[in-house]
Amino acid sequence: MTMKDFRLYRFFLTLFCCLCCTVPVSADTGNQKSILLLSPNMLNSPYLYDFYSAFKAKLNAERAEPVIIYEENLDLSRFPLSSDQTNLDTWLKTKYKDIKIDAVVVVGQTVLNYLLTHQQLMWLDTPILFTLASDSEIRKMSLPVNVTGRTLKAGFFDVVQMAKALLPNTQHIAIIGNTAEHDVYRNDLPDEIARLSVDIDIIDLRGKSLPELELAVKQLPKNTAIYFTALTVDDKLRKVVNEFALEKIVRQSNAPILADNPNYIGFGPMAAISFDAGIQGRDTADLLNQILIGKKISSLPISKSTFIPLLDWRELNRWGVSKNNYPADSEVRFYVPTAWELYRWQIGLIFSVITVLLTLVGALLLERKRRNAAVAESRHRLAQIAFMNRKITATVYSEAIAHELIHPLAAILSNTEAAQLFLNQCPPQIAMVQEILVNIRRDDLRAGDLIKSMRGLLTKSESTESLVNVNEVVQKVLNFLAGEAKIRQVQLIESLAPVTLIVIADAIQLQQVMVNLILNALDAIDEADGARRCISIFTAVHEINNVLVSVADTGVGFDENIERVFDSFFTTKEKGMGLGLAITEAIVQAHGGRIWAENCPDGGVVHFSLPLSINGFR
Ligand code: ADP
Repeated sequence: MTMKDFRLYRFFLTLFCCLCCTVPVSADTGNQKSILLLSPNMLNSPYLYDFYSAFKAKLNAERAEPVIIYEENLDLSRFPLSSDQTNLDTWLKTKYKDIKIDAVVVVGQTVLNYLLTHQQLMWLDTPILFTLASDSEIRKMSLPVNVTGRTLKAGFFDVVQMAKALLPNTQHIAIIGNTAEHDVYRNDLPDEIARLSVDIDIIDLRGKSLPELELAVKQLPKNTAIYFTALTVDDKLRKVVNEFALEKIVRQSNAPILADNPNYIGFGPMAAISFDAGIQGRDTADLLNQILIGKKISSLPISKSTFIPLLDWRELNRWGVSKNNYPADSEVRFYVPTAWELYRWQIGLIFSVITVLLTLVGALLLERKRRNAAVAESRHRLAQIAFMNRKITATVYSEAIAHELIHPLAAILSNTEAAQLFLNQCPPQIAMVQEILVNIRRDDLRAGDLIKSMRGLLTKSESTESLVNVNEVVQKVLNFLAGEAKIRQVQLIESLAPVTLIVIADAIQLQQVMVNLILNALDAIDEADGARRCISIFTAVHEINNVLVSVADTGVGFDENIERVFDSFFTTKEKGMGLGLAITEAIVQAHGGRIWAENCPDGGVVHFSLPLSINGFR
């Protein structure tokens, strides 16, 4: 490296150092303001950190140039100074001797106490602004003219009031924490205890070891609340981690815990006295701004802040505190909203949908009930009409029945006479008589069947469904009408399916369908008066799961009337009523079937189909 290079290097190095290093500012800072912030232990306390953030933000909010803040963490609670100790004074004095300080901001009571005891050494004429100091302490002090600030007004009295407000039955207050000589923050606590013990039973557990405390808090009397101050020194004067002690007490305690430190909330205490760090920071910055613009300290009186109760919702619930007992202006933390609060709209929507669905289901059920009632009613009416129809048709075929009965009755009579003759012979011919008796029995059963069928047709009016064999019904009707067919000289030809065709139906109504169709066929044949006089009846399986029944005749056929024959009161007969096919169609449709008529070269044919009952078919 040449000499020239070396000089260049030295120039840049010096420039770099000027830019990067924080050089103590000399007395000449122009309009720029500098303050010294003396704090107890900024880094260890989230509360003080929040305070400082809000303070700094507000202080510089409307400034072109930020205030220079020198900060000293004195940590006096952990390192208390003896009155004759001057090391710190000397150190501070030396450190800041060349620095212009426009105001000293003192955070907390202990730091203020220190500064007021030692301040004659420096900053005699500098404005001193204290904050977060104890109201009761400040009231006891006579402050120099260059000092003003903000106090916090809260103490043991407020803790007791808060306990009584939350749990009105509170009768005992157990105090846990450092003894008075090790509690620099609560100087007035002993006086407060003495004053309040008149109204409430105070169980003073200060100065006990942690194991002793763990045992004691398990056995506290009913209606006790614990006031946890701070436990940093145990009975053997060993240091204790406050949070660790609190955690142990919380775990064992049979009583709710209250505190005057908002940082404890969330770690077990039910309630704490709280001064919002943000508000304190901003209010302190406001006061400082007034000092920095040159307002006289005498025109800035000491102001005090009142606390807000800070509550842990989970602990309130645990100790059964009613919501009505929450003090006014309290701040509730760790609140767990109910499902209703979280999903109000969703739950509302679900309930609305369920309500709509239930209403629809209700309406549908009602509709179904009405429809069932209507179906039952129409079936009842159909049954009544069908019954009337049977009575009408009964007169038509009663003659045929009478004719049919004459044969078995005449046969029974002649057989009886023959039996008498065989019995009078000597010896009586018992074998012949037995044969005759068999014939008499057969003729009697046939006559009985005919009468039974007739009675079934004429007495039953209500519809009852059962498994019915279609082929059997057809045969029964053919038997029944055989006499009438014979009178009219019509041949009945049956062509029945070779399988059992089972349908679910009212057997009497099915018989009536067949009777109506066959009587109509007989009438059509009479009207045609042709040479071929026959009716063919077919049964078959139709479209896999239906039964088809067809009645074909050699009559006049339906011709152009085919569209109207199922209409009520449509008739082409002189004495007709036009109801037979309408009722027949109604019966078939009520059984889930359909009916239709066709013209064919020989005459007419009527088909009807019914759903086949699969079980029966098998
Ligand atoms: P009614 O027998 O009292 O006239 P129906 O309802 O039984 O009443 O029949 C209505 C009409 O349908 C009959 O008047 C007839 O004109 C016609 N009809 C019914 N069955 C047949 C058939 N097998 N062949 C031709 N016409 C028929």
